[in-house]
Parts: sequence; structure tokens; C-alpha cells
Amino acid sequence: MAKAPDSAIILGGGTAGWMTANLLQRRWGAAGTKITLIESSDIGIIGVGEGSTPQLKAFFDALGIAEAEWMPRCNATYKAGIEFAGWSDKAGYERYFHPFPTDVDAFTQGQFFYSTRARRTGRDVPAHPDPFFIQTRIAREGRAPLAPPNFPFGVSYGYHFDAHLIGAFLREFGTARGIRHVDARIASVELDETGDVKGLVAEDGQRFDADFFVDASGFRAAIIEGALKEPHRSFAENLFNDRAVVTPTPKPAEGVHACTRSIAKSAGWIWNIPLTNRIGNGYVYSSRYIDDDAAAAELREHLGLTEDADVRHLKMKCGRIERSWVRNCLAVGLAQGFLEPLEATALHIVINTVENFLEAYEKDDRAGFNTAIARRYEGIRDYLVCHYRTAQRSDTNYWRDATRNEALSDSLKGVMTAWFRGQDLEQEVVRQDIGKFYLPMSWHCMLAGYGNFPGADMLKPPGPDIVKFDMADVDRFVSGCAMNFPSHAEALERLLA
Ligand SMILES: Cc1cc2nc3c(=O)[nH]c(=O)nc-3n(C[C@H](O)[C@H](O)[C@H](O)COP(=O)(O)OP(=O)(O)OC[C@H]3O[C@@H](n4cnc5c(N)ncnc54)[C@H](O)[C@@H]3O)c2cc1C
Repeated sequence: MAKAPDSAIILGGGTAGWMTANLLQRRWGAAGTKITLIESSDIGIIGVGEGSTPQLKAFFDALGIAEAEWMPRCNATYKAGIEFAGWSDKAGYERYFHPFPTDVDAFTQGQFFYSTRARRTGRDVPAHPDPFFIQTRIAREGRAPLAPPNFPFGVSYGYHFDAHLIGAFLREFGTARGIRHVDARIASVELDETGDVKGLVAEDGQRFDADFFVDASGFRAAIIEGALKEPHRSFAENLFNDRAVVTPTPKPAEGVHACTRSIAKSAGWIWNIPLTNRIGNGYVYSSRYIDDDAAAAELREHLGLTEDADVRHLKMKCGRIERSWVRNCLAVGLAQGFLEPLEATALHIVINTVENFLEAYEKDDRAGFNTAIARRYEGIRDYLVCHYRTAQRSDTNYWRDATRNEALSDSLKGVMTAWFRGQDLEQEVVRQDIGKFYLPMSWHCMLAGYGNFPGADMLKPPGPDIVKFDMADVDRFVSGCAMNFPSHAEALERLLA
């Protein structure tokens, strides 16, 4: 029987709160824990966060929820990866795709790694990531990353979904399995004489006591920061973006591709996230370089909207809480930390946090858990920082400063040194044990995708010491695999059958 408290309260009914409640109910509920989720409909949820990594598939699989059950209810689509456009003005590197991995990458990845290294050391060989990866082809050809029965290899994929609808779905699922749901606005947090959280007191005077608490109260961080005073460590000097402006647009008549698009703009980047009924768009930017009105105007112009089209402005607090598990409280979601949404990792961290926490709770390993979570935040942060530091743009002050940013961790410096000195980057990622945050494939795709190579005038022909791969063979292999996959439209229709 799992070690579990008698009662647990989750404060917050955003995506993080409901995901956590369901994961706790599955493990602790079975051991008899009474689980209550308290949220305030007056406050509401942030209502953004509509892209995921493959971890979300693992979450639904763990809860035994089939795609046909949840995806249509959340207007969800499939995601094979992210396309980055406009981050480099180097000819030939105007865009690249960051694919989710598949088992068949093993056949082409070695060639890609080899070619990037040859190119880094001045040999004229093709080293753009796009031709080498099957998920890139799947997304570009309008297919879904769903392996057909005649393709017996693992294919990782994520989803896009409506943030409000996924919360509603998880609420219905969780309450049907015994989670108590309370709509109340919490006014204060009471601590006992030892400093542990004792209870939450609502504005109307109701009291809610429990043995364990989860702070999922969003950027308010009402328990972990508000009551327990755990310090917040800002990442503002590493990552400049602190605002977003968002607006939806209609779904295009021709249907949607199974990928997120991230398009670099004058002081940040714009996301396009395709759902079955609309496209979610948002401009993530730095208020140091552009004001809210100018950012909204740039977003509207990019989307071809009129000046009076409605937009919503959001403030973002980039960083993490010093320790995620403090006394009898675990922080998750925006209360725990926030990394700008460039790689859509927030819900990935929520799932990872709760799963690791449940293991650590069994072993009473609070310190080990807190160290591992902090490392995860920093590992992901470094990958995001690398996007900006190695982007090939210098047309605005924002991009000039971002590409010269010196607030780099030692780990990131190690990665960049390995790349720019022509060393084995895969070995460096393994040596630092950071492949669990981002695979060597992801690092190679980013650094090669922006064209971080010597200029064309410095390149020499490969010579006999360099293996030159036949790109027609690579293309035959990748397209031969991709042609087995269904069209995205067909895959979405199948869910409704
Ligand atoms: C611009 C932007 C884009 C993003 N894009 C992505 C993405 O693509 N992918 C991704 O994974 N993540 C993304 N995120 C992050 C994602 O939005 C969040 O991680 C996710 O929505 C979870 O939020 P949350 O549940 O922690 O907080 P919220 O949604 O803010 O929920 C907080 C909850 O706490 C409750 N609450 C707060 N105070 C009280 C109180 N006093 N009493 C009672 N209830 C209270 C509120 O009512 C609410 O229910 C993005 C974030 C931003 C800002």
C-alpha cells in the first residue's frame, strides 16, 4: 500500500491543479486519501497553455483515458513538433523543424550528427536538420504522427488543446472518481505552531483543513510564496520575455498541420497553435524593448487583423520557486515556476513534478526531489536561452542583445563550446547528463537549424576523409516512412467515428 496522507487539498483549478488532483487521486485515492480541489470561479484560470510535449500522452495513458474520449471534447489536434521561422536570416536557414523523436531516427540521426560536425569543421556537406527526420516530413506533408500497424516503431507525439476545455474534462473525470470540488475564494492560509500549513480560510469564513497541500494557485503562489515565504528565483537576466498578447483566429479552410509554429518578430516571437475549431495565437515579448500597444499592433499585423480586433494582455513571471516541496506543501504549475512557452514545457514539468514527488514521498526524500526539480527547470531554461543566444538575427536591439546575452550557465557554455569548437556534441550532452531535459537530437537541430556554421566562403569540399551521405537516399528513407502515416484531417475524423 502506498504511503499517503489522510487528506490533501489542491488550491487551484487550472490545468496544473486538475492534472495534479487526478494523479494524486490515482495513487493516494487508492490508499484512502480524501482529495479536495478548491478553486475560485471569480478568479478563473490563466486560459493559455495549449501546446504540449509527448509527456501529455503519457499522462492520459496513465489515467487510462483514450484519445477518442478527450481529444474531441478539447478541440485537440496532434503535434509532431515545432517549426521555428524567422529566427535566422542566414540564407537556407530561414526555418527549421524541431521534431519529437521516433525510433526510426536511429537510421538517419547518426548521419545528421556526423554531417553537422563535418560542417562545423569547415566541410561543405548538407547539415540542415529538416531532411533527416520523419516527424518533420509528417508535419510538412499534413500528416498525423500516428504510426500505422505496418510501422512497428515508436513515435512520440504531443497535442494542442483548448486550455479551458481540458480543465473541464479533467474536472469531470476527477470528480467522477471521488475528488471533492469546492468553489471558494481563499482569503488566508493558516500555519500551525511548527510552521506547517494547517488550513485554508475562505472569504465567506469556511475552513478547509488537511494533512497535505498542493499550491496550484497560478502566479499568485498563495501558499508557497504567500504563506510559506519560499523565495522566487527570477530568470529575467537569462530570458528577457515577460509579456504576452494573445488572440484567436478562425481555422483555415484547408485544415491544420500537426505542429506549432513559432515565428520570430521584432522583440520576441509569435506562436500559432492549431485546434480543430480555431488557431490560438500569441506574441511573447520583452517589455524592455516594445510596449504593449506596439506588440498588439505587431501581432494584429502579422495575423492580418484590423486595428480594433480584440486581444488579451498577460504578464509573465519567469523563474522558479527555490524549493518546490516545502513542509507539507508541494507547488505545481505557475505557482512553482514558469519558463516562457517557446518549447511548451509547462505541463510537462507539472506531470514530471507530481510523478517524482509521489516517488520521493514514499522514500521521504524531499531534498533529492527539490534538487532534481530545480535542475530540470535550469536544464530546460538553458535550452531556451540557447535559442536566443544562437539565433542568427541582429535587426533590432532585442535581437542584438539576445544574441549577445552573457548570462549563460556553465552547462550551456559547455554545450556551446563543444559545438563551436567542432567537438562531439552528443558526448558533451551525455557527459553533462542533460539529455533527460533535451536530447542530443534537439540540441543538434537547434544549433544547425539556425545555421551556426562557418560562412559559405570558409567551407572546403569534403575530401576523402569525410563520408558524404547521399541525400537522395536519406530522402527516400524518410519519405518512404512518412507515406505510411495518415493525413492529419483523417486522423482527427477517426476520433469522432
Ligand atoms: C503566454 C503563455 C503561454 C503558455 N503556453 C504554454 C504552452 O504552450 N504549453 C504549456 O505547457 N504551458 C504553457 N503555458 C503555461 C500554462 O498556461 C500553465 O502552466 C497552465 O495553464 C497551468 O496553469 P496553472 O494551473 O498553474 O494556473 P492558472 O490557470 O492560473 O490556475 C490558477 C488557479 O488557482 C485558483 N486560485 C488562485 N488564487 C486563489 C484563491 N485565493 N482562492 C481560490 N482559488 C484561487 C484560480 O481560480 C485558478 O483556478 C503558457 C503560459 C503563458 C503565460
